[in-house]
Amino acid sequence: MSDWIREKLHADYGQSLRISEMLYDSETEHQRLKVFQNGTFGRVLTLDDVVQTTEGDNFVYHEMLTHVPILAHGAARHVCIIGGGDGGMAREVLRHQSVENVTMVEIDGGVVEFSKQYLPTLSQGAFDDPRLNLVIADGADFIRTTEGGFDVIIVDSTDPIGPGEVLFSDTFYGHAKRALTPGGIIVTQNGVPFMQGDELTNTMRAFQALFADASCYLATVPTYAGGPMAFGWGTDGDARQTPLATLKDRFTASGLTPDYYTPEVHQAAFALPGYVLKLMP
Ligand code: SAM
Repeated sequence: MSDWIREKLHADYGQSLRISEMLYDSETEHQRLKVFQNGTFGRVLTLDDVVQTTEGDNFVYHEMLTHVPILAHGAARHVCIIGGGDGGMAREVLRHQSVENVTMVEIDGGVVEFSKQYLPTLSQGAFDDPRLNLVIADGADFIRTTEGGFDVIIVDSTDPIGPGEVLFSDTFYGHAKRALTPGGIIVTQNGVPFMQGDELTNTMRAFQALFADASCYLATVPTYAGGPMAFGWGTDGDARQTPLATLKDRFTASGLTPDYYTPEVHQAAFALPGYVLKLMP
């Protein structure tokens, strides 16, 4: 198994990916970072041996955490990304010409520099876009002290261990709400509920206390194994009820040509199976 990486995802479950070529393996100030080539997924980025993103399937995750809140909002001009060091989230947000500026707050400058060099297909030039303001800082510290004014906040974090843990706290969510404009939307990566049910339950409990509309939606990302992934959704507005015809009009006007997102998938993603509904507090 020397040419495979073994990702121990959960107490009793993991996955292996073949390494056709190890391209980078080093410690940053915050975490161990690797990039390797895999026959199915192309280049794969791991932090502390947990898959973060791959060239092959990142489109599902990045499209669903950007186009869903931005097109549901309908007039998002100021967007904040917390985490997102590989640049894939910024890439998808910046596809929206209506977005005037993106503040991306990543704790680990090493991930950004390294992704520019080894994963250029992730960011596709997003780091050079004049609308992007990159801040190297802890996202929780930033959101606590910022004036805010964000129409959409996207939490593109690692799982709630290590530096990412604070981004799942009630305190962080409270500060994030304060940083939203009226009707603003926060979306979060909440892991795979079949495996990490508590993660979703905890975020939903916090969101229910904070927002008039607290829910989650799903998408299947092949390398986040164990079933569909959940994305938290919180807002005081009614963007989740945006009619399909309106989503279609906004989608057409956006000129987007995504590989996963469609207005129909957008609406259907909020339909939750029983085992996920049971995780909602
Ligand atoms: N989608 C991936 C997943 O679910 O496995 C995660 C994507 S990766 C871009 C997450 C990023 O969050 C990493 O670059 C990491 O450095 C960053 N991060 C972790 N904790 C953070 C914090 N407290 N503030 C800002 N960024 C953080």
